[in-house]
Amino acid sequence: MTNDLLPTNDLLSLSTDEFIAGIDTVASKFDSATYPQQILPPDSWALLVRAGVRLPTLPKQYGGRDSSVEMCRIVETTSEWNLALGVHVIVNTALALLPVVKWAGEEAKREMLPRFAGGDPLMAGLAATEPGAGSALSAMATTFEEVDGGYRIRGRKHWQALSSSAHWWLVLAKNAHRRREYGYFVVKRSEGFRTVELYEALGLKLIDYGVNDIDVTVPRHRRINAEEPGLNSVDMFLASRALLAAAGSGFLRRISREAHTYADGRQIGRKPQSKIGFVRYRLAAIDTSATICEALNHYLQTMLDFKRDMTPAFPAVQALKTVATERVISAAQHYQQLTGAEGYRCGSPTNIAGQAFLDTRVFSIFDGNNDMLSQQLAAYCLTRRSGRPLSRFLADWPLTAPAVRALQADLSFLDQRLGQAHQVLAGRVVGYLFAIAQVVKWAAETGADPRRARPAIEFLRNDIAGVAAEFRLLATGVLDAYGAGR
Ligand SMILES: Cc1cc2nc3c(=O)[nH]c(=O)nc-3n(C[C@H](O)[C@H](O)[C@H](O)COP(=O)(O)OP(=O)(O)OC[C@H]3O[C@@H](n4cnc5c(N)ncnc54)[C@H](O)[C@@H]3O)c2cc1C
Repeated sequence: MTNDLLPTNDLLSLSTDEFIAGIDTVASKFDSATYPQQILPPDSWALLVRAGVRLPTLPKQYGGRDSSVEMCRIVETTSEWNLALGVHVIVNTALALLPVVKWAGEEAKREMLPRFAGGDPLMAGLAATEPGAGSALSAMATTFEEVDGGYRIRGRKHWQALSSSAHWWLVLAKNAHRRREYGYFVVKRSEGFRTVELYEALGLKLIDYGVNDIDVTVPRHRRINAEEPGLNSVDMFLASRALLAAAGSGFLRRISREAHTYADGRQIGRKPQSKIGFVRYRLAAIDTSATICEALNHYLQTMLDFKRDMTPAFPAVQALKTVATERVISAAQHYQQLTGAEGYRCGSPTNIAGQAFLDTRVFSIFDGNNDMLSQQLAAYCLTRRSGRPLSRFLADWPLTAPAVRALQADLSFLDQRLGQAHQVLAGRVVGYLFAIAQVVKWAAETGADPRRARPAIEFLRNDIAGVAAEFRLLATGVLDAYGAGR
């Protein structure tokens, strides 16, 4: 019996492997090679709900399986079948449901969570971004104010995943009367969350996006206790951000497999495409990206627990997200190049490259744009180096020290006054070092073939050398007219 035929209660007694195998069977119905590029209908979402996709996010007392590892494995599996489906799952679970599990009071939990433990295909989303406030959320115009019996929340949000379909929302707003105070509120669509315009996105078309006007009054217990003054390091966003490494790992396992199959099957002149030297280089770039994401996903599953306080994992999550998403985008582009004009077709019978290209592009933009996250990562290190040069700090810091030892590279170019552009670039170096350390750890812990680990590390070394070259470019002063070196 597959998971979608079992009552959700029976799913609780399955082992992790049995449970994930059931999800995998259901997810296979959404294979991106054949599944239409359209908003996922509720009855399709119902199949996944009945297979238990939400259960690992929910605590046991609310009928869940309460497992961080299973949250990762579901995203990995669904993303291998269909990347947009993986994102759909992340939004419903880590982005919208998990904050309620972690920070809401008992009354709000009792009101919301039991509805998500059964087979009802309800959906939930998070509304933070606004037309005037994306990367810098502190500029938001949506406000809340205390009124008799609760809070009134008013404002306009946009780009929410599941804009017109989610029934429950977590809405971020700022205090109308007090500066720098923010609050998260659980809101039902029926209470006054209106989708006033739909956007047509380039990719991830299983999910709907749009403009949402909010004018609601919610009872006091619906405010959840997770706000922080800075907004950027808040634990709230870390689980969904980190899960992009799991999505990348599943997705790139498939892209690597399919790129090889395509290149072996395509004749160019008298030989298979895969016999061409530079094609093999591109295949190596795809394979190493898959290896890097697998290692990052290993870190995610063995070192992080979404159910605990994730704040200490802030630097690791910034690195996981930026490196994994960069790898996903770059591998999708190599794959599309290899598939030639066939990869520029919608619905090609030979490959999913066009869709992969469109679906992945947004990964460096959403859930915190990568440039900003890299800057934050560099700033995190700079404020903790206690007078040491940055390269010395990175040689000592447990998250990067194994990589600095393995590379034996000169990182002294980082030891200078770092303006904004330099900080973004330096943050990328920190991310690459973190990724090298995780490839080393993953290889040691899983006994992976060294022929996979070594090239992955060398590609990352090359990325660091690329950043060093960008530092040299900035130092020439040739970009000063742009103000880029400041
Ligand atoms: C498919 C999709 C799904 C989404 N899902 C949700 C959702 O579920 N809920 C939600 O609330 N929002 C969602 N968003 C919104 C998303 O989180 C924002 O688009 C994102 O935060 C960036 O904001 P912005 O688009 O306003 O870009 P802007 O803030 O205008 O930034 C644009 C660009 O400026 C540059 N930039 C900005 N800051 C820096 C910096 N410090 N250093 C260097 N460069 C910088 C970067 O290149 C950045 O990409 C989604 C967006 C998309 C496209």
